[in-house]
Amino acid sequence: MAGVEEVGTGAVGVPSSGNTISTVLVVIAMQAEAMPLVQTLQLTEEDEPSVFPKAVPWKKYSGTHEGLSVHIVVPGKDFHLGVDSVGTVPVSMLTYASIVSLHPDLIINAGTAGGFQSKGAAIGDVFVATHFANHDRRIPVPVFDEYGIGTLGATPIPNLVKALALKEGKMSTGNSLDMTPEDEEIIKANDATIKDMEGAAVAYVADLFTVPLIALKAVTDIVDGSKPTVEEFLENMSTAAAALSAMVPRVLKYVSGKKIADL
Ligand code: SAH
Repeated sequence: MAGVEEVGTGAVGVPSSGNTISTVLVVIAMQAEAMPLVQTLQLTEEDEPSVFPKAVPWKKYSGTHEGLSVHIVVPGKDFHLGVDSVGTVPVSMLTYASIVSLHPDLIINAGTAGGFQSKGAAIGDVFVATHFANHDRRIPVPVFDEYGIGTLGATPIPNLVKALALKEGKMSTGNSLDMTPEDEEIIKANDATIKDMEGAAVAYVADLFTVPLIALKAVTDIVDGSKPTVEEFLENMSTAAAALSAMVPRVLKYVSGKKIADL
């Protein structure tokens, strides 16, 4: 079905409005991933007046950088358990609310990911996602199976990738840090180099609103390696956060004064 295929592989945020990029929304799942970047960019937390409803734990850090209006948003701590609200549901609500209130010209989803060494990933690499797909939405009914995978192409940014010598790879998203044999099979079918818990959800919302999206993911753990994921994740979290807080400002500098079509 050619029509379905076309819908399934559309690129997020294309066509763009053609305006010079002025507002950038940076969506980050974990507070520890966000804080080094908040400090580097010297952003400040604004709670009055808040763009988000009072009830939610979401946080926003804003300021200007390289002539851009930059907002970092995080889903905050789970009300009941006090840990970061990782996964697809909180980040999609946060992305939705942020788009509606901040009208970004560009979204950057920055975070950490597991990487497949068989696909060229190494700890601390910062990857830019070329495609987004899901691996935990198995719906074995014609067409719904494809909806479950939900493949979307990333906004094309060939000049940026070249200028910053970024590694590129396909990303697969699911709501688990570990990987079941079923997940593994679908991740392989998705041809993924990196595996995370939010990317495809941010892409879904960005695509709904035709907002261009760049996903930058620093590798904290090697999925097809010998170390246990959780141990390796914790060991490399600060290295990855540092790599992100170095890379995101370089991306902001590059996009400043440009249009999406220039990237
Ligand atoms: N053990 C961690 C839990 C964080 S959940 C802690 O102590 O805080 C993992 C987060 O990192 C998610 O936001 C996810 O997007 C990303 N991530 C890193 N490695 C991953 C992997 N191998 N699989 C899925 N998500 C991963």
